[in-house]
Amino acid sequence: MAGGFRIIGHRGARGLFPENTLEGFQGAWALGVRAFELDVGLTRDGVAVVAHDPVLNPDLTRDAAGAWLPGPGPAIHALTAAELAGFDVGRLRPGSRAAGLFPRQRPHDGARVPDLAAVLAALPAAEWIIEIKTDPTRPDLTAPPDLLADAVLTQIDRADAAARVVVESFDWRIQAYVRRVRPDIGLAYLTRPDAPADPWWAGIDPADHGGSVPACVAAAGPAGCAWAPAFAQLTRAALREAHALGLAVLPWTVNAPADMRRLIGWGVDGIITDDPDILAAVTAAAGNSTTPTRG
Ligand code: MG
Repeated sequence: MAGGFRIIGHRGARGLFPENTLEGFQGAWALGVRAFELDVGLTRDGVAVVAHDPVLNPDLTRDAAGAWLPGPGPAIHALTAAELAGFDVGRLRPGSRAAGLFPRQRPHDGARVPDLAAVLAALPAAEWIIEIKTDPTRPDLTAPPDLLADAVLTQIDRADAAARVVVESFDWRIQAYVRRVRPDIGLAYLTRPDAPADPWWAGIDPADHGGSVPACVAAAGPAGCAWAPAFAQLTRAALREAHALGLAVLPWTVNAPADMRRLIGWGVDGIITDDPDILAAVTAAAGNSTTPTRG
C-alpha cells in the first residue's frame, strides 16, 4: 500500500453500516470507499472470520431466535464457523452505547460474521488493513498468534491480495511472525496509550529508544512499514519523527471533521475513520487529499 493519502473505513464504515459485515464493506464500496480496516479472529474449527471482539458483543449480536445476547460471549474461538453463522450482527441494540455513537448506521438484519475469505473475494480491488486480534495478556481468548496469522496469510494468498493488504496488530508478535515468514506483506504497528510496551511490543523496550514510540516502531518493523497510533496520542512532533524514520502514519479512529482537518494539515498518510463519507468531504474541501503537507 503506497502512494497518496488514504481514506480508510474503520470496520468497513461503522458510522454507516453494521461493522465488519459483508453488507457493510459492499455498501461502503458503493459509496466510493476503496480502503478498509477490519479485524480477524479464528473459530474453533480454524476459519478466519471478520470480527472485532474476541467474544460476541451483546450490543450488536442476536441469537438464532432473534434474542439479544444477555451479556458478552461466547468466545469466537469457542464456536465453530457453523455455530457462529447462527448469530445476527446486522443491527445495534437499541439504547446501547454503540447505538448512541452511530445514529447514522443503517441496520441490515440477517448480516452474519463473515469469513475473511468471503470479504476479500467480494471486493477484489479493495485495499485492506487486516488487524489480527490476539492479546498477550489473554492467551485463553484467542488462537495463538502464529496460527491466526497463518490462517490470515492463507486467505490473503487465495484472494491474490498480498499487494493490497497491510497486516496490523497491537500484539507485535503478529508482525514479527509475518515479517519472518512473509517479508513481502505490508505491516502496520498499532499503539494505544493504555497498552504498555511489555508485553504488547514483542520485546521492544522504549527505554532502548529514548522513549519514542515511532522509534520503537522503526526498530520493530521493516523499512516502509506504518505506525497506526490512537489519534489522540499523535503529536505533530511525533509525526515528523516518524516520517524522518521512513514510517507511514495512519491514525485511528478519527471521526470529528476538526480532527480530520488538523491531521491532514500535519501530513498524515491516511486516516482510519468510522465515517469515510465525512472524511471524503473534508479532504475534498481541503483540496490537498493527495498532496498533504509534510513537516
Ligand atoms: Mg481494528
